[in-house]
Amino acid sequence: MRKLEEVLKDWEAVIGLEIHAELTTLNTKMFCGCKLEFGADPNTHTCPVCLGLPGALPVPNKAAIESIVLAGLATNCDIEKHSMFYRKNYMYPDMAKNFQTTQGPVAFCMRGHLDLDVDGPAAKERGDIAGLKPGETCENVTVTDSGYTAHVGITRIHMEEDAGKMIHIGGDEGRIAGATHSLVDYNRAGTPLIELVTEPDLRTPEEARLFMQKLRQIYLAIGISDCSMEEGSMRCDGNVSLRRRGSTKLGVKTELKNMNSFKNLHDGLAYEICRQAEVLEEGGQIYQETRHWDPTMKHTIVMRVKETADDYRLFPEPDLAPYDLSDEFIEGVRAKLPELPDQKAARFAEEFGLSAYDARHLV
Ligand code: ADP
Ligand code: MG
Ligand code: ZN
Repeated sequence: MRKLEEVLKDWEAVIGLEIHAELTTLNTKMFCGCKLEFGADPNTHTCPVCLGLPGALPVPNKAAIESIVLAGLATNCDIEKHSMFYRKNYMYPDMAKNFQTTQGPVAFCMRGHLDLDVDGPAAKERGDIAGLKPGETCENVTVTDSGYTAHVGITRIHMEEDAGKMIHIGGDEGRIAGATHSLVDYNRAGTPLIELVTEPDLRTPEEARLFMQKLRQIYLAIGISDCSMEEGSMRCDGNVSLRRRGSTKLGVKTELKNMNSFKNLHDGLAYEICRQAEVLEEGGQIYQETRHWDPTMKHTIVMRVKETADDYRLFPEPDLAPYDLSDEFIEGVRAKLPELPDQKAARFAEEFGLSAYDARHLV
């Protein structure tokens, strides 16, 4: 396989991220009063609602709605006053209800963006801006003294709930392959979870890594999650496709699931870009599929071919009324916004006479 720098001279990588964060700073689950606690004894934080017992009715957690609105305001999203919950149906033992409660086409937060400052060696991965001078623009990018700023669109942030945790016994390294039986812990089932989806605006593995880092900084600043990649309270799926430089048509993408560190996200995407280039250059075809990045073997393998939205039979949740958020509620949340990382950097630059680069790295 060719090196990433070489591949990116001929091909443009198109990357979009789906980033999940558990709202770990809340006291209780999304639709019931069960306590949120990582590492408790299995199945000690469960009740009829999060176990999906017949007749149990959900009651939404107001603090979770405040948290997602806060996340939307901190990432320049429009807050949708009218939205609702849906059922995403699937049959797997990690969710006793046999569906996940999630949002449909309209989420609480829509059409946001973050601006990424890329500098140093990280800026070199982006081939299309070589030769441009500070202030000049290209696509969603403005060249700066130390690198460039990329404007990255956020499609939406929606509210959903986490599933329980499966533990597979008797197989290799806890995997389901070769296991004799599986155990399930429903403590995590019903944990408030927000999913942010980006537009396919990222172009290099470095940009993907920086986006995730910046989002983590913001979520930590607004205090909605502990964003622990090790404990899985922040996780990321990376979607990537290639197209010939100059082409504007999107290629077929693959999706790397559950990247649990910044390095894995970067290295997995870098590998996948090189793999796709090799397949395409040999006249082959990319299939829309979910792949797993193995950091030890340093390659990606197929997990499953993509299920389509139709398979989930998404339909409006009849047990939860649609939302009608008031201006008062939204402004009340806005009043809780702390100083955000970009604002802090601007203040440091101003107060201490630092360069934008130094101020950002200090933050
Ligand atoms: P899916 O239906 O497969 O989940 P979505 O349209 O929901 O796809 O997009 C999921 C993520 O993939 C988003 O972040 C989006 O920006 C990104 N994406 C969509 N199409 C492409 C593509 N052709 N190449 C790279 N990323 C893509
Ligand atoms: Mg999707
Ligand atoms: Zn419960």
